[in-house]
This record gives sequence, C-alpha cells and structure tokens, in this order.
Amino acid sequence: MARIVVTGGAGFLGSHLCRRLLGRGEEVVCLDNLITGSLENIEDLFGQPGFTYVEHDVSTYVWVPGPVDGVFHFASPASPIDFERIPIQILKVGSLGTHNTLGLAKAKDARFFLASTSEVYGDPLEHPQTEEYWGNVNPIGPRGVYDEAKRFAEAMTMAYRRAHGLDVRIVRIFNVYGPGMRPGDGRAASNFIVQALRGEPITVYGDGSQTRSFCYVDDEVGGFLALYDSDETGPMNIGNPDEFTIGELAETVRDVTGSSSEIAYHPLPVDDPTQRRPDITLARKTLGWEPTVPLREGIARTAEYFARQLGR
Ligand code: UDP
Repeated sequence: MARIVVTGGAGFLGSHLCRRLLGRGEEVVCLDNLITGSLENIEDLFGQPGFTYVEHDVSTYVWVPGPVDGVFHFASPASPIDFERIPIQILKVGSLGTHNTLGLAKAKDARFFLASTSEVYGDPLEHPQTEEYWGNVNPIGPRGVYDEAKRFAEAMTMAYRRAHGLDVRIVRIFNVYGPGMRPGDGRAASNFIVQALRGEPITVYGDGSQTRSFCYVDDEVGGFLALYDSDETGPMNIGNPDEFTIGELAETVRDVTGSSSEIAYHPLPVDDPTQRRPDITLARKTLGWEPTVPLREGIARTAEYFARQLGR
C-alpha cells in the first residue's frame, strides 16, 4: 500500500483524486487550507481506512511524518474569480507551495506530480495546443498571477528533476467540470448549470464565440493516474479535445436541463483566451488514455449534482 500526499485535497480535483486513490487501496494524506476547498467535498472520506486530513497552507513549510511514496501538488485557487480576489495567495501557492512540496518529495524520495494548466499557453496563437507550444501569456494582467505561478511551478519541478534527479510528472489540465465544483465557482460550466436550474439568466461573457474544451472530471482524474503510473515526465496535456464555443455550452446546458433561462451577454474579462483545445496525441500514444464522457452526458450528471446541492 503506497502512502500519497494530496495538496488541495479538499478542492474540486483534489477531492476526486483522493477518492480514486483510496479506491485503489492507497493511503492518502490530504492537505488543504480550505481557502477555496471545502470539507463537504471530502465528508464521505472521513473514517475511511487510510484517509487522513490535515488543515495546512502549503505556502508555508510542509512536513508529513512517516513514509511518503507520492506527492500530488493540487493546491491552488484556479477560477478566474479567484484571480481578482486572492492574487497573492495564488502566486504564493504556485511558487512557495511548489518549492515546499518538491522539498517534501525530495526528503521522502517520493514521486512528485504537479497539477499545471492549459493557462501556461495563455491566449494561444497556435491551435490546438501541443505540449511544444511555449504560450502567449500577459505576465502583468489579472490572469498572470495564475499563469505565471504555474509556469514557475513547471520550471521549479523541472529544475528539481535536473538538479536532484527527482522523479516528477507534470500534467497540463484543460477545463474540467463535474460534481464537486463550487456552485459559486465562477466558471462557465458551474455558473450556467446553476443559472439554468434557478431559471436565472445565463451569463455569457463577450459574444460567446470564444472556445473551450470541457473534460468530465472522472475522465480527467483517470488521465492523472495514468500519467502518474507511467514512466512519462510530461508536461502532458490531459483534457477533452471536443471544442465548443461558450455560446454552444450555454445552449447545451439550457437544453439538457430543460431550462427556459434567457441568455444575458456581459463584457468579456481582460485577457480571456479566444480559443483553447488540447492536442492529446502524446497522452493517447504514451498512456493509451482518452476521454470517454461526451459533453451532454457530463452536463446531465453535473446538473444532477447541483440540483441536490441547491436543495440542501
Ligand atoms: N464565461 C462566461 N460566463 C460565465 C463564466 C465564464 O461566458 O458566467 C466564459 C469566460 O469568459 C471564458 C469561458 O466562459 O471565456 C470559460 O471560462 P471559465 O471561467 O470556465 O474558465 P477559463 O476562462 O479559465 O477557461
């Protein structure tokens, strides 16, 4: 039985990851400072054999007693609404938090898995994005706090690999949705579903022609584990290559939920990427991984979750 540390383990992706790791018999030490994570996400895991939760901010020194075989560094606020609200915490967890958790992995001779992001590609001038693309990021814009923190985190992770021979994996995560998102997360998928269920206007930013490629959370986490278990270092894109405009997403949500919400157009946020779609050739070839859940089905499952949440 391996012992795995998951930072950000009470967050959207981290909590799914903890659950899957426990499900395959690993021991899990979940760290979270609950700045955007929530104990509700992991309430079913308390009392499960092998699960430990510690409230801790990994931007400060991290120590976990006992053996550790793997460190998944998933701690970071990741929604554009957080970029405005808590920019310095985002920069700290991506830089200091990555340094601290790399130090933990090195001290324990553990495998280190970094949750990076498609945001390293910024507003991409190449489409779809392959791992070779260096990106088009505005370092001083409002999104820069997240993008540059993750770019730094990738650089630091590769430096630990080169300087210390640390066993590392880097995943670049594209847009993910599913049960466990915060209703107030501020993302397109969560906003649209919550608005549709409440019969409120669906808030499309800009004219809705910008694109994203949405991956259902179970597919995404399957990709993380496939990469973790492989001999690949990455960076590797893990996402769903089916690309939709935000207008199409709004229509799909309205249709799947049977909502009669109108569409309300709002100004496009600064530096909002105009297009985003992963090239997943590398993941297909080296991991044999690809997503399987189509958008409509994933939206239906997520809407069921939000309907329960809203009723709670
Ligand atoms: N978006 C939108 N309405 C919302 C929330 C987001 O139109 O209520 C847009 C946003 O401007 C972006 C896209 O949807 O173009 C995806 O936004 P999200 O916050 O989900 O993720 P990210 O921008 O990080 O890809």
